[in-house]
Amino acid sequence: MNAQNSTVYEKFKKCNAYETAFELKKEGKVRHVGISFHDKAEVLDRILSEYPEIEIVQIQFNYLDYESASVDSKRVYEVCEKHDKPVLVMEPVKGGSLVRLPEEAQKALDELQGGSNASYAIRFAAGFKNIRVVLSGMSDMDQMKDNVSFMENYEPLNEAERSAIHKVCEVFQNMHNIPCTSCRYCIEENKCPKNILIPDLFSSYNTKQIFDDWNAKHYYDRATVNHGRASDCIRCGMCERVCPQHLPIRELLVQVAEQFDQ
Ligand code: SF4
Ligand code: SF4
Repeated sequence: MNAQNSTVYEKFKKCNAYETAFELKKEGKVRHVGISFHDKAEVLDRILSEYPEIEIVQIQFNYLDYESASVDSKRVYEVCEKHDKPVLVMEPVKGGSLVRLPEEAQKALDELQGGSNASYAIRFAAGFKNIRVVLSGMSDMDQMKDNVSFMENYEPLNEAERSAIHKVCEVFQNMHNIPCTSCRYCIEENKCPKNILIPDLFSSYNTKQIFDDWNAKHYYDRATVNHGRASDCIRCGMCERVCPQHLPIRELLVQVAEQFDQ
């Protein structure tokens, strides 16, 4: 059941797609029923509560998205653990972004004098209890040989390697234009009259600045499905009163709107 999120899920439910899939399984026409998922942890929790028969969940999971507000990998993975579902990982190298690193980030990995950039990313993803398969897109024989070389006798990341990828994350974070910490006070303590998911929009904006890829727009669109867009802000200022980082949220939303709403 591909690309489940709050909108697609409703559509699948209306069509009785889940019931049909489970019926086909009973008839022996399919072996397993699983989903791939792209939304917030709460949505996955709902899906797995409503359909506990789902056997496996595929999620976007890599060391950079682990704590990202827009991708929400850590919390999504924790929901899989809570429901005791095995997990398939997609995007372990973030579409190649964890292979083509900025210079300073590359230095942190080079100091390890060990494996390829992809190897740290894939080994990170494989190191969690419920992860069963890490799907790594490979485009040539060398990449496949490299992947096989470190997964054949798999070793989880050691402390020095963890600290190096932490440095890589810091380099990426320092490239962010908006220093939002995703504390979510602005949306939880205070109700934005336009229901704008401020930290998620900032996270999408930062992703766009760093990677300039289609993912950022995808996450922006997802964060604005049932919520306001950056350009909907009426500049009431309520959010800024509670922001511990004292961010000029209204001004920043203008930048975000220029990026995504035009
Ligand atoms: S200033 Fe904009 S984003 Fe902040 S609470 Fe008001 S409408 Fe929402
Ligand atoms: S309160 Fe400030 S730092 Fe916290 S999520 Fe909102 S914008 Fe980001």
